[in-house]
Amino acid sequence: MNLILIGAPGSGKGTQGKIIARQFGYTIISIGEILRKEIDSNSEIGLSVKSYMAKGELVPDDIIVKIVENCIAQKDCQNGFILDGFPRNLNQAIIFDRMIAASGKKIDLVLNFKISEEFLIKRILGRFTCRECGAIYNRFFKTLKKDGICDSCGSESFENRSDDTEQVIKKRIKIYNNTASDLINHYRKNNLLVSLDASLNSTILFETIRKSLKEI
Ligand code: AMP
Repeated sequence: MNLILIGAPGSGKGTQGKIIARQFGYTIISIGEILRKEIDSNSEIGLSVKSYMAKGELVPDDIIVKIVENCIAQKDCQNGFILDGFPRNLNQAIIFDRMIAASGKKIDLVLNFKISEEFLIKRILGRFTCRECGAIYNRFFKTLKKDGICDSCGSESFENRSDDTEQVIKKRIKIYNNTASDLINHYRKNNLLVSLDASLNSTILFETIRKSLKEI
C-alpha cells in the first residue's frame, strides 16, 4: 500500500508515519528529513535548499519532485511507501499524479492530520529528537520514561530542529494553511482522503489509522 500523509508541521504525521512504517513494513519517505541530511552533508542539494528551510519557506517544486521520483523508484519502496511532507501544494500533487501513474503504481490512501494552531505551536516548541535513532519526543506531550535517556535506544544525545523557533514555526503554519485546502480538496475529489483528529494521543490515533488501512 502507498500512503500520503498531509498535515501542518507538528501535527504528528512524522511520528505516525514511523509507526505505520514499522508495523506494516512500508518505507517512509520524509522529505524534510532527506533535506536536513543533504544540508548536514553540505551536498549541492543541501546548499540549494538551506536558506528556504531556515526561513520556513517551501523549497522549489522541481528540486522536491526529483527527490521523490528517485525515492519511489528504489527497491525498498516496492512493498509500499509512506510520503511524509509531500505533496505540499496542488502543483506538486498534480505532478505527482502523473509521475505515479507513469510508474504503474497508485496511491491507496491520503491521511489528513487535523489539529488546532494553538496545539500545534506547543507541540513543535516542545519537540526534540534522539540523535542516534531519530525517535521523536515532546516535553509537554511525550516525555522520556527515564530523564535524559532515549526510550528506544538508550542514547543520551538529543537535538532540536533548527527551524523549530516560534517565528519560523508561525511562518510554516501560515504557508501550510495557504496551500492545504487545495491539496485536501484534490484528494477528497479523488476519494482518497481520510481526515483524522491529530490531537488524540499517539496510540489511539494509530488504532484509528489501522482501522482505515484495514478497510481498504
Ligand atoms: P518538515 O520536516 O516536513 O516540516 O519540512 C521541513 C522543511 O523542509 C519545510 O519547512 C520546507 O522548507 C521543506 N520541505 C519539506 N517538504 C517539502 C515539500 N514537499 N515542498 C517544499 N518544501 C518542502
